[in-house]
Amino acid sequence: MNYEKYAIADIHLHLDGSLSPKAVIDVAKKENIELPTYDEKELVSCLQAPDNCESLNELLKRFDLPNLVLQSKYGLKYCTLDLLKRISDDGVKYAEIRMAPQLSTAKGLSQEEVVQTMIEALKEGEEKYGIKSNLIVCMMRGKDNFEKNKETIELAKKYRDQKVCAVDIAGAEALFPNDMFIMEFALVKKYGLNLTIHAGEASGANSVKTALSYGADRIGHGVHAIQDKSVCKELKKTAICLEICPKSNLDTKAIRSYDDLPIKDYLKMGIKVSINSDDMTVCNTSVKKEYETLSKLGFKENELREFALNTINAAFCDQATKDYLKQFIL
Ligand SMILES: [Zn+2]
Repeated sequence: MNYEKYAIADIHLHLDGSLSPKAVIDVAKKENIELPTYDEKELVSCLQAPDNCESLNELLKRFDLPNLVLQSKYGLKYCTLDLLKRISDDGVKYAEIRMAPQLSTAKGLSQEEVVQTMIEALKEGEEKYGIKSNLIVCMMRGKDNFEKNKETIELAKKYRDQKVCAVDIAGAEALFPNDMFIMEFALVKKYGLNLTIHAGEASGANSVKTALSYGADRIGHGVHAIQDKSVCKELKKTAICLEICPKSNLDTKAIRSYDDLPIKDYLKMGIKVSINSDDMTVCNTSVKKEYETLSKLGFKENELREFALNTINAAFCDQATKDYLKQFIL
């Protein structure tokens, strides 16, 4: 089966989790940043989730190193263009790249400079490689983080017509649950911005319920929604799309094996499922590999097409881009 033709859009893709070892080394050398190794193969083991990775919290440690090279305009642009080229070569026609501007301010950049640099990089990527893209700005979970998160939301509002398509919240879901961020979510909705929330990944169905009640337009992961029929009903009724990332769920132990991946059930229930890569480097994956896995698991071509169509329909882009993407999966 030609599963590759369906792997044309990725709407859940973290920049910091998807850097190539080469890009990390190139930026580190140019900016005199100390790395544990400057050998690409050796560096992979520092960037990838270990086989015995126990949880999302442990996986999140793999993001410390990538963030060292995302602290300058040069590093941000270089790594973003490198990512866009790799996914474009892999057949992706549209991507929503997400990143947290507040994590790139350690060396003096403002969140606004980070967002402006990202917008420039995405525009340049489209010109150079023909790949369409938008930016999702992530707020971060944590204690007393409202001011930084608010700044992120204000920037999403200011640059909403310039490629900033939505706001997300990332970080340790089990330690800092969604109901700690009610003020942030309310502000996002007040401004009429698109909102996607990581939910039901490290936590249970209740986290998805909370995210829906705060007005999420999409749910990051949502694999644990299956535990609660009423949450599944709500997902079906609202047609809110789940951004499912199978390999990542395996790595964070959100699921024990692919048998636990509830997407067959979701399909039967009429819940919208999209397929994405999450963190290409940390999880050693790509959207193409994800579709390959699904085809090996026995998903039929019409089901893969449905996932691809859901991804396109749920994308935070204009109708013309959706129409353009749909022609590839006919
Ligand atoms: Zn994610």
